[in-house]
Amino acid sequence: MKHTDVIIVGAGPTGLLLAAELRLAGVRPLVLERQPGRRDTPKAGGLGGQILELLR
Ligand SMILES: Cc1cc2nc3c(=O)[nH]c(=O)nc-3n(C[C@H](O)[C@H](O)[C@H](O)COP(=O)(O)OP(=O)(O)OC[C@H]3O[C@@H](n4cnc5c(N)ncnc54)[C@H](O)[C@@H]3O)c2cc1C
Repeated sequence: MKHTDVIIVGAGPTGLLLAAELRLAGVRPLVLERQPGRRDTPKAGGLGGQILELLR
């Protein structure tokens, strides 16, 4: 923990993107995930709804 500035609980898209952004800002995050590995089923096969407006 000595080299950690921020602890992020959950390695989903939100946690991983936050970790990446923090690293770009010079902050050292530690991501904790309760699942032992990647899931077999995909949870992001496409984009739709409001996110398309935001990306546009
Ligand atoms: C079957 C399915 C298909 C989907 N398809 C799409 C799609 O095609 N396009 C799309 O845009 N979205 C899709 N989604 C939605 C998308 O997966 C979610 O919007 C997205 O995963 C949310 O990201 P998140 O990081 O907020 O949460 P999550 O992905 O739920 O990540 C949270 C993580 O935190 C971990 N966690 C929770 N509590 C703890 C704890 N106490 N300690 C440690 N770890 C913890 C969990 O294990 C999990 O890995 C789909 C969802 C499902 C279920």
